[in-house]
Amino acid sequence: MMPRGPGRLWSLVTDAALVAVLVTLGLVGSVVAYRSLAQKAAAQQRELLTAMGQSVVGAFDLQLVRAVESLQVSGQMFSAQGAPTREQFARYGASLIGESSTMTLLEWQPVVPHARLAEFERRAALEQPGYRVVEPAPEYQGDGFVAVKPRDEHVPVLYSWPETGAALGVDMAFDPRRMRSKLLARDAGSPVASETFGLIRRGQAGPAANGFAVSAPVYRTARPAGVDARRAELVGYVAGVIEVPELMREAALRADANELDLFVFDQDGQHRLIYSSAGSEPFQADAADTVLSVDVGGRPWQLVLRPRPGFVGAGQDDAPLLALAGGGLATLVVALAVVRSLVIRRRLERTEAVLAEDREHLTNVLAGTAAGTWDWRIDTGQLVVNERWAQMLGRTLAELEPFNVTTWERLCHAGDLIEANNALKRHLKGDEDRFTAEFRMRHADGHWVWVQSTGRVFERDAEGKPLRLAGTHMDITRRKADEQRLHDDARALEAANRQLRDLAIHDALTGAFNRRHFNDVCLAALAGAQRGQAVALCMLDVDFFKAYNDQYGHQAGDAVLKVLALTLKSGLKRSTDAVFRLGGEEFGVIFSAGSAETARQFVDQLGAALHALALPHSQSPMKIVTASFGLAWWAAPTSRLTPEAMYAAADAALYEAKRNGRDRTVMRSFEAGEGESASLAMVR
Ligand code: GH3
Ligand code: MG
Ligand code: MG
Repeated sequence: MMPRGPGRLWSLVTDAALVAVLVTLGLVGSVVAYRSLAQKAAAQQRELLTAMGQSVVGAFDLQLVRAVESLQVSGQMFSAQGAPTREQFARYGASLIGESSTMTLLEWQPVVPHARLAEFERRAALEQPGYRVVEPAPEYQGDGFVAVKPRDEHVPVLYSWPETGAALGVDMAFDPRRMRSKLLARDAGSPVASETFGLIRRGQAGPAANGFAVSAPVYRTARPAGVDARRAELVGYVAGVIEVPELMREAALRADANELDLFVFDQDGQHRLIYSSAGSEPFQADAADTVLSVDVGGRPWQLVLRPRPGFVGAGQDDAPLLALAGGGLATLVVALAVVRSLVIRRRLERTEAVLAEDREHLTNVLAGTAAGTWDWRIDTGQLVVNERWAQMLGRTLAELEPFNVTTWERLCHAGDLIEANNALKRHLKGDEDRFTAEFRMRHADGHWVWVQSTGRVFERDAEGKPLRLAGTHMDITRRKADEQRLHDDARALEAANRQLRDLAIHDALTGAFNRRHFNDVCLAALAGAQRGQAVALCMLDVDFFKAYNDQYGHQAGDAVLKVLALTLKSGLKRSTDAVFRLGGEEFGVIFSAGSAETARQFVDQLGAALHALALPHSQSPMKIVTASFGLAWWAAPTSRLTPEAMYAAADAALYEAKRNGRDRTVMRSFEAGEGESASLAMVR
């Protein structure tokens, strides 16, 4: 049966859950694939960026190393040779600062204790007129310098290469930030880079270039060992100034060629942006950034490479998105297919349920009607029937194997086979909407079972030719028996009625019509006569019959009456002629006769026939049984002639025959209009 109520709801819920699980699995799978591919792509991009970063770093790292190395060498050289002269420094500076160097400026910065500052200034001014030790004004704007403030030690720029625009005379000790790297270099015995800051350029207005200095310590001795010795032996610093934009030029070009923005940070605790290839845009950290740490003369720098929208490695890999879209689409398609199949399954279930219901209904109907079923494939002759079909004949299906259409023919009564086949032909031809036939079939016990077969073609080929026919068998034996009984009863009744009718109009002894029927037959004869035919009535009475009875017995008398009636009947000529027993041994004969002569001849023949019988009658003078005849003949009777008048006329003639001596005939003939009145009876 069809799932209804909670069962149906539950099935809907499980189907929905199945689809939901499928969709979830599909989507999760797609997302996982997307993420894994995206991660792979991101990792590849990171690798690519790292490689590019190393290439970018390589673009300035070597320069930087060279600068640091050359400063190291300078520091060591001046430590060995003693503080440089102006001439020495200029020569040295010219060889170091050039096309190939990243340094834009080389400075000699001796350490001058405050006590010797005046002396230092005086001697320097001799060499470089106007030389003074100064420091930038608090609101330093390019060229705002003031006299140096007193401090323990001054680190003024004494020589510079190139000399123009240098920070000559500026005391670096004014700025602890600038001094920090120098003090570190002093203690370490090797060059140390400063943090970046605006570069001092005396005589140049406008915003200062961003840069830093690498300071190499110069000692009194070649290589003092230990921090204390280094502090004690320190003479000054050889400082190389490096402008960040200049240093980064090649690196920025490489970054730019790869569609990357380059940001450089000085990790001085504040994480200061010291270079940006993206102009003045404020820096915002980005997930796509690749960060590289670089050691710049002992200072930690951070390079940030950021792919631009046109980056070679970016957005090129569509695989993750394709995987996501493809997976999503595939999930959708699969989900739709599953939903479709579920819908179809549900429809099938419903159809099956309806079919099962129909089948059950049909089974119930068949069980209720006790009908056998048959299904006949006309082309193959294959006939399939149910168990009831066989049961009706007191058999089982198994007993009838192998079963086909000839099985039916074999069991069918030969006398009914033809009509059944004719009914089948009429249906197959389309003359009849339905095949119906009644036939007898042989029961296993030997008797016949009446079967009513009803069926119909339900499958035809393309041309409309019938292929399959199916129907039912009903056992109608009882109905047939009832019908037969009814039929027999009806016939019996008819016979009884006929007998009754006969009894009503016939005389039981002789079989002649009785007196009651006389009037009717007379009237019928008159009806014919009135159309212009003559009519005759003859009455006869056996002579001396009382004596016959007395002599031979009443039964013998009855036999004479029977023979007489038979003789009279066999003398009749026409179907309308009739014999009556009018009472006792008295008979009447109504007959048609065209003329008086033929009427007389007819009666004479009757008398002769009686004589011919020669029935012995010892008590009669004639010695045989004789009769007297009274004949009345009307040539052209009118409608006034009545049976009573006819009777009276014939009776009168008979009376006369008796009176005249018996064994004779007296005839009375009437012309048109005569002898039609009942008063004739008075004649007698
Ligand atoms: P007739 O006519 O010649 O004058 O003499 P009859 O002896 O025939 O006289 P009647 O007509 O008076 O007698 C009639 C007799 O017919 C009386 C009766 O015994 C006899 N009869 C009447 N009906 C039957 C019958 O059904 N069977 C027999 N066996 N005899 C009958
Ligand atoms: Mg009589
Ligand atoms: Mg008589």
